[in-house]
Amino acid sequence: MHTALPSYEEAAALVADRAAQLGRILPALERVELGRASGRFLAQPLVADRDQPPFARSTRDGFACRAAEACMHRPLAVVGAARAGDAPSGPLSPGTAWEIMTGAPVPAGADAVMMIEHVETRGGAADGGADNGNVRLLPPRTVEPGENIVAQGAQARRGDPLLAAGTALQFGQIALAASCGYGTLDVFRRPRVAILTTGDELAGVEATLAPGQIRNSNAPMLAALVAGAGGEAWVLPTAADNAPALDALLAQAATADLLLISGGVSAGKFDLVEPALARMGARFHFTGVRIQPGKPTVFGELPRSAGSQSLTQPFFGLPGNPISSAVTFLLFAAPVLAALAGSRQSAPRFALARLAPPVDRHGKPGLTRFLPAWCDFGSPAGQPPRVAFVPWHGSGDLGALARSNCFLEVPEEARSLEPGAFVRILLP
Ligand code: AMP
Ligand code: MG
Repeated sequence: MHTALPSYEEAAALVADRAAQLGRILPALERVELGRASGRFLAQPLVADRDQPPFARSTRDGFACRAAEACMHRPLAVVGAARAGDAPSGPLSPGTAWEIMTGAPVPAGADAVMMIEHVETRGGAADGGADNGNVRLLPPRTVEPGENIVAQGAQARRGDPLLAAGTALQFGQIALAASCGYGTLDVFRRPRVAILTTGDELAGVEATLAPGQIRNSNAPMLAALVAGAGGEAWVLPTAADNAPALDALLAQAATADLLLISGGVSAGKFDLVEPALARMGARFHFTGVRIQPGKPTVFGELPRSAGSQSLTQPFFGLPGNPISSAVTFLLFAAPVLAALAGSRQSAPRFALARLAPPVDRHGKPGLTRFLPAWCDFGSPAGQPPRVAFVPWHGSGDLGALARSNCFLEVPEEARSLEPGAFVRILLP
C-alpha cells in the first residue's frame, strides 16, 4: 500500500476522475424560495418565461428617433414621452421624436435614442411653449441605428434555457431567476457529510481540559468547510484511538454521502484508521500524497449496503493537524463534495499572484507544498494581487491558519520561487 506515493497532480487527477463518476448519480431535488437559494446548485434548467428584454428598451435618457433623420441635424417635433413602466407606444411618424427615459420601451418606428447630453431642445414647456417643442442632434454628433437600444429578445428568447442544472446559485443567477418569474427554485439536496474526528487527546470545545488534552478544533473547522462547499455537516462523536470505537463510529457514519475522518492516518502506533477502513472492505485510491502538509491523506470508497442509491461511500482520511486537514479538504475532499452536490464545476480554485518577499525555502524536496499565505487582492489598478507567506510553526499553528486567506503552492522544485514571481494560490 505504501509503495511510491502519487504526486499532487496524480492524486488530483485521480480525485477528479472519481468525482466525475460519483457525480453521475444526481442528488434528490428540493424546492427552495428564491431568497434562500444562494449557495445551492440548480437542479433544473432555468428557462426564460418571455423575451429578454421583453420590449426594445432604451439604455439612456434622451430622445427616440430615426437615426437617419437625426443625423440630418434638423429639429424633430417631440410628440410624446415614454417613461419606464409605460406600455410600448408609437408608431413614430416621420420627422418626430419621443422623449424617453432609461428602461422605457422604445416607440415602434424609432431605431435609435439620442442621448440627452447630445441634443438641444427648443420651444417646449420649459421654454414657455404650448407643445413639447422640438429636439435637434448637435453637430458633429451622429447616431447609428440601434444605438442606445437593446432590441426585444436580444439577451434571450422566450423558452430559451438560460442556466443549466448544476449551476451554482449566486447573486447573478438569483437576479436572472427573479427576472424570469421564479419565486422558488428546484435545487439539489445538500449531500450529508459525516465528520468523524479521532484522537484520545481530544476534548469538546467547552470542556475543562485535563493535562495533555486539546480542544477538538477540526470538527467545527471541517463543518464550516463542508457548509461552505455546499454540504450538510453531520458531526459524529469523537472516536477514541482504539479499534472497537472506530468500528462503531464508522458503522454509524454509513448512511452519509461522504465520510471525512480526521486524524489517525499517519504512521504512528495509534493511527488505526486505515486498518479500520480495510476491515469494512474499503477500496483505497491512495494512502498518501507527495504534498506538505497533508502527506498521509487517504482517499477511497467503502461498499454500501444493498438498496442504497450509490454503490459506494467515498471517504477521506485527513491528517489531524489542523492545517493539514484544511488543505487536504480543499485539495481533495471539496471536489468530491462538489460533484456529489450536483455542481458542474468541482476542481479546486487556483489563482495567480505575485510573490512578495521573504521566501520560505525550508521545504523537503520532492513534495508540493501548500503553505498558509495572505493574498492582498486590493492591489492598485493594473497590478496583480500580491501574496506573502504567513509565518507559521508547522501544521498545528491555528493562529497562522486564521491569519491566512489562501495557501501558496510551492512546486516540488522550490528553487524556482523568487520574490516577484507569479505563483499559484489555492483559494478557500
Ligand atoms: P494525527 O493525524 O491523529 O496523528 O494528529 C496529528 C496532530 O493533530 C496531533 O497533534 C493531534 O493532536 C492533532 N489533532 C488531531 N485531531 C485534531 C482535532 N480534531 N482538532 C485539533 N487537533 C487535532
Ligand atoms: Mg491521532
